[in-house]
Amino acid sequence: MKAVIIGGGISGTVTAMALRLAGIEASVHEAYPSGGEDAGAFLTIMHNGMDALRAIGAEAPVVDNSFAAVGLELVTPDGKTVERRSFDVADSAGLTGPRTLTRASLYRALQEEVISRGITFERGKRLVSASPGVARFEDGSVAEGDILIGADGLRSVVRTIIDPACPPPRSTGLDVVYGYTTDTSIPQAPSLYRMIQSLHAFFGYTSTPDGSTYWFARLPTAEGVRVGLSAAEWRSAAFAAFDGEPLPAAEIIQSTGDDVFGGHSYDVPSTPVWFNASMVLVGDAAHAASPAAGQGASMALEDSVVLAQCLRDLPDAPTAFMAYERLRRARVEKLVAGSASVSSSTTSDRDRNWLYQHHIEWDAKITRN
Ligand SMILES: Cc1cc2nc3c(=O)[nH]c(=O)nc-3n(C[C@H](O)[C@H](O)[C@H](O)COP(=O)(O)OP(=O)(O)OC[C@H]3O[C@@H](n4cnc5c(N)ncnc54)[C@H](O)[C@@H]3O)c2cc1C
Repeated sequence: MKAVIIGGGISGTVTAMALRLAGIEASVHEAYPSGGEDAGAFLTIMHNGMDALRAIGAEAPVVDNSFAAVGLELVTPDGKTVERRSFDVADSAGLTGPRTLTRASLYRALQEEVISRGITFERGKRLVSASPGVARFEDGSVAEGDILIGADGLRSVVRTIIDPACPPPRSTGLDVVYGYTTDTSIPQAPSLYRMIQSLHAFFGYTSTPDGSTYWFARLPTAEGVRVGLSAAEWRSAAFAAFDGEPLPAAEIIQSTGDDVFGGHSYDVPSTPVWFNASMVLVGDAAHAASPAAGQGASMALEDSVVLAQCLRDLPDAPTAFMAYERLRRARVEKLVAGSASVSSSTTSDRDRNWLYQHHIEWDAKITRN
């Protein structure tokens, strides 16, 4: 069997590595002509995402490019810390627990790992259409294979090929702004997420071992209100949401230069059709959670490994796709539904063990039922 994977982000690269381990040939076709340089933002891969990477021996590139997230603190609008939580991490160095890294370095690390494992990885290949056995790209080239895996993210083309009537992504009612500052004189949160619920918006920050600070601000707003903003304009929008409050948010934002990225956020609560006889969706293409969940990447990693297990153990693609959907749909839709309510209320989800303690045993045999 040969798999053609569309999208070389998180799920595309990890699906390719998992398939290789399962003895299935795969090639990856990514729309962007270069690495993930324009992929602003940062993210945290939680316990369950790291577990999925470990299942296929692919955690090292992530660990090497990230720093540990050891816990979080919740702070109220008047500056009181109301909750401190340590993430459950088995090793003292924090290597097996959640890891924070920029999206660009995550993509780069995973793509380099795919290439180093001898898997074909093509850039500048934007899928425009597909039929059974053939993927067609914008540059006129094609890729042939027995199955097509749509790992092409939130605005998946493969999703619309499988089901032209699929619902479009939904606005979460939030603009999300990210920034990076190297100013070490501002309040720091070393390897810790300090999450601040202010009067009008939500702010979170964490500091790297060398004293840089990564921050994000979630600003409730309708879709289409802030469009085409420059870095300075996004910084001003974030600053305005926290200015005058007894919190460090405005100070941190003010200390940031042009390393600011913003945009409106979307989710995909339920995709009615995940597969047909020769095509299947993974990661955000199948289900996308609000950024408030902090789980989209981890879920994409879980999907990728489970899909490869199903293709390894079941006799044909449709049977494997059916088992994959059975194993994944309820879990991911529970997450997306929970994160949508987190987005709207900006409260924290306190019981996340069902998410974090998920474990994938690579050698476990997948059965049809
Ligand atoms: C602002 C923001 C913050 C987030 N923060 C977190 C976080 O802290 N923790 C977390 O776990 N998750 C977070 N997420 C979610 C996480 O980024 C996604 O869930 C994750 O990237 C999904 O991985 P994926 O591989 O399915 O999709 P993507 O990472 O989006 O990868 C899709 C790839 O497909 C390529 N592509 C798209 N269309 C085509 C095409 N037609 N042809 C070929 N290639 C194509 C894209 O260029 C891209 O490389 C966040 C998301 C956003 C928007």
